[in-house]
Amino acid sequence: MLDDIASCSDGRPGVTRLPFTSEHHRAAAIIKGWMEETGLAVHMDAAGTIIGRREGVADGPTLLFGSHQDSVRNGGKYDGIMGVLLPILALREIKNLSLPFSVQVMAFADEEGVRFPTALIGSRALAGSFDPSALELKDQDGISIHDAMVEFGLRPDGIESLDLRNRSIIGYVETHIEQGPVLDNENVPLGVVTAIAGIERHHISLRGIAGHAGTTPMRGRQDPLTCAAEFLLAAERIASETPDLIATIGKLNVLPNAVNVIPGEVSMILEIRSAVDRVREQGGKSIINEMREIAAGRAIDFTCRKTYTQRAVPCDAKLKNLLKKAVYSSHYEAKELPSGATHDASAMADLCPIAMLFVRCHGGISHTPEELAEEADMQEAVNCLVNFLKLLK
Ligand SMILES: [Zn+2]
Repeated sequence: MLDDIASCSDGRPGVTRLPFTSEHHRAAAIIKGWMEETGLAVHMDAAGTIIGRREGVADGPTLLFGSHQDSVRNGGKYDGIMGVLLPILALREIKNLSLPFSVQVMAFADEEGVRFPTALIGSRALAGSFDPSALELKDQDGISIHDAMVEFGLRPDGIESLDLRNRSIIGYVETHIEQGPVLDNENVPLGVVTAIAGIERHHISLRGIAGHAGTTPMRGRQDPLTCAAEFLLAAERIASETPDLIATIGKLNVLPNAVNVIPGEVSMILEIRSAVDRVREQGGKSIINEMREIAAGRAIDFTCRKTYTQRAVPCDAKLKNLLKKAVYSSHYEAKELPSGATHDASAMADLCPIAMLFVRCHGGISHTPEELAEEADMQEAVNCLVNFLKLLK
């Protein structure tokens, strides 16, 4: 089934399925088919989310399952779409079991944020946190989200009415490949997420004195790039020594960036993540304090501005423990781990309790055509979701 839907791709290698495109159209038809064959009532909402619903008792609460249909460019065939398929397969296995709640499986249109400079439209719409001004954001061809949606056959003005905040929702459970090596290294097929990491980004500028690479002696140089090199190592050391802290400098600009010139200016983005906000905040402070001292020692002008903050989202204790129990019923002990990546669950946390089930992925790699989850592990995940529904009953 995943091979089938992987063919809805804009070219090779791997899968490129961006929101509100013809590939999305073809994928939607396949997803609808999966849902209909499972006996779910299917529709697509105004944000492009495909929803399959199984009714429980009248006026009962609803349990939400879901993930995203879209991929990155030249991505794999598991990230996102697997979390749509596995709950559908779980519901097939308990077709004749009556549940005191309704179950909804959802395939969100856009989580990756590859086509437009925003993401999580579908999940934010349900959580009541969607900002309508985002509809004016454009892709690289100058097409706005609004126009792409209309072209796709949607009515974006209906997004506002999708807000589920006054409905009775049990929670949102997302199944996803881990996108990291923890489960693979520990040889465990399934993991239960403790929290989705918070993120902060800092824009750092360094100014020194540019000069001729041949004529300026080593002594007395004020080179912002060698200063930046010390920054990278300091961030790496502090994050390695601090439990639950991740720090990355992945973007660096060097001016003038020429072979025979000592750089005059360097700017970079420091990104810090942790599942514990306190660890992230304190870690950020100590890295930046150390950078300030390094710069002062080298007579380099240092400025730092925080440009982005996203708080950590803890998973709901009750749903998390139920998922753990459900994994255990499948004869495995679930590994608890944080999610370093953002998911639709991050947005859904504004609406209801959330939980996430991680499936081991080979080598921890994702967002590439080599992304791989074993069939046996995915079957374990289906079993776990079946157990989870029975336990919740
Ligand atoms: Zn994903």
